[in-house]
Amino acid sequence: MDNAATTQALPEVADVVKDVMCNRYGNPSSLHNRGFEAEKIIKDARESIAKTLKCSPDNIIFTSGGTEGNNMALVGGALANQREGKHIITTCYEHASVYRPLMYLEDNMGFEVTYLPVDKNGRVELDALKDALREDTIIVSIMHVNNEIGSVNDIYEIGNIVKEYNKNIIYHVDAIQSYGKIMINAKRSKADFITVSGHKIHGPKGTGFVFKSDNVKVHPIIHGGGQQKNFRSGTENVPGIAGLKVAADFMYGNMSDHAEHFFKIKKMLKEKCESIEGVTVNACEELEATAPHVLSVSFEGVRSEVLLHALEDRGVFVSSGSACSSNHPGISHALQAIGVDKNLLESTIRFSFSVFTTAEMIDYTVEQIEDLLPMLRKYVKR
Ligand code: PMP
Repeated sequence: MDNAATTQALPEVADVVKDVMCNRYGNPSSLHNRGFEAEKIIKDARESIAKTLKCSPDNIIFTSGGTEGNNMALVGGALANQREGKHIITTCYEHASVYRPLMYLEDNMGFEVTYLPVDKNGRVELDALKDALREDTIIVSIMHVNNEIGSVNDIYEIGNIVKEYNKNIIYHVDAIQSYGKIMINAKRSKADFITVSGHKIHGPKGTGFVFKSDNVKVHPIIHGGGQQKNFRSGTENVPGIAGLKVAADFMYGNMSDHAEHFFKIKKMLKEKCESIEGVTVNACEELEATAPHVLSVSFEGVRSEVLLHALEDRGVFVSSGSACSSNHPGISHALQAIGVDKNLLESTIRFSFSVFTTAEMIDYTVEQIEDLLPMLRKYVKR
């Protein structure tokens, strides 16, 4: 129940990683056959992945994951465009791998960052974006799916707003929670950077890629041997890239079946949770407009960490709703932003699913919650 944190690699992914590691282990920069073979693995992966975003293979740069991709887009983009201005717009509920690089740019390099609010469904307020755009704005960075509450931003409408204001503004979409679950058309989004992580889609950890538009100006943040057209030096993680391709093919090859399954599971958990006293589901008024794999639920009268560990004892692994994504450690910005009651902020759990989550797992989880809640509520400090 914690698949937004990470997913199990597919057996086919593990098989190809092992095969490339042990048998096709050439360095793609080498001039001999072994090198050529490795280069071909990367080329095939790049072509497959480009199809999933409907872009050219030239737009794909492989990285070590979402965090590196976000740093590349934000730090690399800021450094290359600082002459045009030093203003950056983002939201109040980005992942740490977006807001921390931005804080770094603010604290050390004289950039100014505006944090946009979100509405009660957890979507960025578009009027606030329009008001925030300035002549010196050089980057707008907005996540597609929020990792804590599963709300979905309209990346196409945001792209229109940004590019109509000034086509030179860099538009970055953190798609780490959406890629593989929601269709993304890179061109239609008008994004300059779309960042993706392999381990959220049954690929290997430490893999990912960045979609980079043709003409965006960006400085590399990793300097060295000039691999990947000098945008990202370092010998490519060929086994990881091969595994990432298999995972992406799997997610996109069966997307509509997956979506149906995800929503069935999500609806089931939502309805079961809503029928328990003192339990509220967050940011999920219109189920179909949310991400298929994340459900945020608040449990009155019990601290999230306590419930998390009690569930862990029963073999159910979840995340506390306020984990890892806040400007103020311990207090979730996403939950605050959507107006979750103050006394529920630290009583919120994130459940997140994979295509392998079953109805039986949901039934078991709810049974455990129903069994644990009365007992845990007795011990809460009043
Ligand atoms: N952005 C979002 C929205 C995420 O959920 C995560 C992963 N928790 C990241 C970025 C970082 O990705 P990675 O773990 O691949 O560095």
